Amino acid sequence: MVGAQQTMELPNEVKNIIEKLEKAGYQGYVVGGCVRDLLLGKEPKDWDVTTNAKPREIQNIFPENIYENVFGTVAVKTGSEDETLALVEVTPYRIEGKYTDKRHPDEIKFANKLEDDLSRRDFTINAMAIDKDGKIVDLFEGQKDLKNKLVRTVGNPADRFGEDALRLLRTVRFATILGFQIEESTLKALKAASEWLAAISKERIRDEFIKIIESENAYEGILLLEETGILKFIAPELREGIGVDQNLHHIYSVWEHCTRALKYSTEKKYSLEVRLASLFHDIGKPRTKRGETHNEATFYGHEVVGARMAAEIMDRLKFPRDFSEKVIKLVRYHMFYYNPEEVTESSVRRLLVRIGKENVEDLLKVREADRIGSGRPKAVPYKLRHLKYIIDKVSDDPISAKMLKIDGKDVMKELGVEPGPKVGLILNSLLAEVVENPSKNVREDLMQRIHDLDKKSPEELRGSLKKIDDAIEREEEERRKKYYV
Ligand code: ATP
Ligand code: MG
Repeated sequence: MVGAQQTMELPNEVKNIIEKLEKAGYQGYVVGGCVRDLLLGKEPKDWDVTTNAKPREIQNIFPENIYENVFGTVAVKTGSEDETLALVEVTPYRIEGKYTDKRHPDEIKFANKLEDDLSRRDFTINAMAIDKDGKIVDLFEGQKDLKNKLVRTVGNPADRFGEDALRLLRTVRFATILGFQIEESTLKALKAASEWLAAISKERIRDEFIKIIESENAYEGILLLEETGILKFIAPELREGIGVDQNLHHIYSVWEHCTRALKYSTEKKYSLEVRLASLFHDIGKPRTKRGETHNEATFYGHEVVGARMAAEIMDRLKFPRDFSEKVIKLVRYHMFYYNPEEVTESSVRRLLVRIGKENVEDLLKVREADRIGSGRPKAVPYKLRHLKYIIDKVSDDPISAKMLKIDGKDVMKELGVEPGPKVGLILNSLLAEVVENPSKNVREDLMQRIHDLDKKSPEELRGSLKKIDDAIEREEEERRKKYYV
């Protein structure tokens, strides 16, 4: 156990706040996550103070404040240059009333004693306080649990999960981020109570899930989500890959492969989008598997099915549209063809049209995670170098309507039409043509060409972009036949 006499040094901004509270006749303590971080020797992300003063009284003591929430928290402006100290949250001691919906307390009551506030907190490691002299208040052996690297609820775990089911996910989040174990009775109660997560809003589940995937221990985190029965409430589709063998190119099941791809992306500190795309990239395999014998199993079209499944998961979790679209693209095109003997400039341009130049680097990262996560990385860096070379080579070729030598205004003027969907369709049709042959991207020729296109019906025009997809699919089809993927 950390010595009982140990004291912690607090920043002056925080010390000042506590001193002012005391001068006005109240108590004040630093509390919660920042105490945990301090004791772990980490820089706290933000500072929380708790007090027996009520919101109105806090506001009187600190006229420079922002007050706008239901928990009675007053954000005090300190004038500090330090971003983490510029606003310090001061919250009255609270005790939570009865919970009837496993989500929110029916009412929030202010309390008079620090003990009450500490005992309503979720975990022992989150339930410690420090006074202005740096003395630690630790009523639930939080320091001992920190030392033993344990996440343990304050009080009876089943009761605490029953009050607020979000704590189930917070348990996994803290265990993952801190690299801690979940204490035995807490773990047992957690497994028994996982179904209660159904009562929690998808947005809150998403936010915890993001923190787990962004952690450097994301791999351990995803395994823990599965072990505890929580993954069912986040992405049950991922579980379909558990125990699903692949074929002679793979030593891992679909589940092991996807989680190992996530592990690699995490080790490389790739972005959240790349991590999620790595985790989801083969999610469509169980539903597309054909052929039972090990050597012959195929997963034709798994990237198309998988992209759809990833979209469903992220829709459900209410990820922002832009964000999901990127992840979906990375999953959809993770199988891109890059054999130097066969890859052509037009096939790379088609890929760029589909994925967008800005996403190419990330697509290569997902492919790398796929390769390393397969457990038998083949030595192919030269193939990737070759692909990058072609990407560079075609990077000034037209791969989006914006890069055409004419624009919407030209089309409208030349054809004497008003703004409308047809203009976009014509531009896209031109794009489909110049992608196959960039030398056609000449202003005069395009101006000519739009007169021919003008005669086509919207359906016919729409078909031209589809040609790009068809060509991509034809190539994919050939590769599948060759490599059984
Ligand atoms: P982080 O570093 O991620 O901010 P944190 O410990 O500060 O971690 P917060 O979610 O900001 O976590 O919550 C602050 C504190 O409030 C926690 O340390 C804990 O004491 C308490 N707390 C937060 N959520 C709950 C909850 N659902 N049930 C009980 N106590 C909670
Ligand atoms: Mg916090």
